[in-house]
Amino acid sequence: MPTCRHCYGTYARGQFIHGNGPRAQVCVRCGVEKGLVTEDEVASLYDASTANARFSALARRWSPLMWLSVLWTAWILFLSDVDPWRLYALVLLVVFTLLLPVYMIFFSSKHMAVMARLTPDYERPKGH
Ligand SMILES: [Zn+2]
Repeated sequence: MPTCRHCYGTYARGQFIHGNGPRAQVCVRCGVEKGLVTEDEVASLYDASTANARFSALARRWSPLMWLSVLWTAWILFLSDVDPWRLYALVLLVVFTLLLPVYMIFFSSKHMAVMARLTPDYERPKGH
């Protein structure tokens, strides 16, 4: 993957502006920030609302893992020596831990559809 010569970020080819000289090897965000292109010219730029929506979709996707690790930590710290709740909570945690991969696999296609909807259209120009 090419590297932007302004921000040193590594992105897919579609995230770069086209041209020679000052426009060579410049990502779309740096191109807009440095005035080399306008926002209308670069269809693949993630504007703020798209970036926020993608971030929240990612958070929705991965938050069950975070909650599970928080619950396991809480169980280890607070419940592991409280009878009889340690056993009840342990059974619940084991059930959730076993069901989580199934849940995530089941909803992965929905997540991919959401991310595809939130990906700006990009048409590769001829010769690139
Ligand atoms: Zn850049």
